[in-house]
Amino acid sequence: MLQLLELTFEDLAEVFAEHLGKGPFLAGALYREFYKQLNPKAWQSPSIAASPGLPDRLRRLMAFEPGHVVDQVKQDGVIKFVTALKDGHRIESVILPMASHWTVCVSSQVGCRMGCRFCETARLGLIRQLSVEEIVGQVYTARQRFGASVRNVVFMGMGEPFDNFDTVIQAVRVLSDQRGLDIARRYITLSTAGRVDGIEKMAALDMPHLKLAVSLNAPNDSLRSQLMPINKAVPLERLRASLMRYPLKKGYDIMVAYVLMSGVNDGPECARQLADWLAPLSAKVNLIPFNPGSDTPYRSPSEKDMDIFRQQLIDLGVNVQKRAPRGRDLMAACGQLGQAAKTVREA
Ligand code: SF4
Repeated sequence: MLQLLELTFEDLAEVFAEHLGKGPFLAGALYREFYKQLNPKAWQSPSIAASPGLPDRLRRLMAFEPGHVVDQVKQDGVIKFVTALKDGHRIESVILPMASHWTVCVSSQVGCRMGCRFCETARLGLIRQLSVEEIVGQVYTARQRFGASVRNVVFMGMGEPFDNFDTVIQAVRVLSDQRGLDIARRYITLSTAGRVDGIEKMAALDMPHLKLAVSLNAPNDSLRSQLMPINKAVPLERLRASLMRYPLKKGYDIMVAYVLMSGVNDGPECARQLADWLAPLSAKVNLIPFNPGSDTPYRSPSEKDMDIFRQQLIDLGVNVQKRAPRGRDLMAACGQLGQAAKTVREA
């Protein structure tokens, strides 16, 4: 069974030609009805129904399932929704309203094997990879079910996107298809914990507008190896060398996420080391306050401590912005996804 959510328009036109003996006009009608009209029963559209037998043949050939939402919570405009997958696993996605648009934070795996100490998802381990359909379905659902005018997609939910590279890239192709969801690639961000093989593969793609983010969280190897086990295999020097080789488009920055944990990585020495590490890079730091999970030794910094750390970075010439901890009470903030999946696994 083919999944419409896995196909770009060109892919669909090929399917129409090969399997149905039909031309691109009808493929376009189906794609438009599904993605632009957000009709998951697109085979019922008048132009498809006018072609004798085509709706039935499409139903036998292709699935049109954006995912089954089993839970949703909303607070301060932030929506977290839980999608039940066909095998019973659950994934979480977050819709964040911004000033002029919405951002959807999507998951790329059920769980994650990177083991970051401060992250709720890490506790699950890697359960399985998501398919293209399951990734694109999260954005489709955000638009179709929640009416969100999604402009930005960030791969910062459950999972390490470069651990599921080919699937994530096909999902990017589908998401950015102008005849479909039409999310511009400059508004799609892939965030890695430091998989340099993935950074190199992304650099080799013909997708110069796609944005790269790195989850850094510590400015020296000893602390980063404690917080993020990947650092033992890919220390900071190697990570930076890979970022320096990255063919960044003019005017673009690498986003560097830095989750501030009180008394762990928020001292003046950390600010100085971070500024030194960043010096040769064209990067923008996103400071994110640690969000307390269900059982963690780490603590959130105070607003004042965050401001002090930020000012230290500014004084050292770092391009930095502070992110508000939205959705904290929903367990929807950065590093907090995974509760729903865990609930199912333990059941
Ligand atoms: S922070 Fe990201 S890479 Fe690290 S364990 Fe959590 S989901 Fe995986």
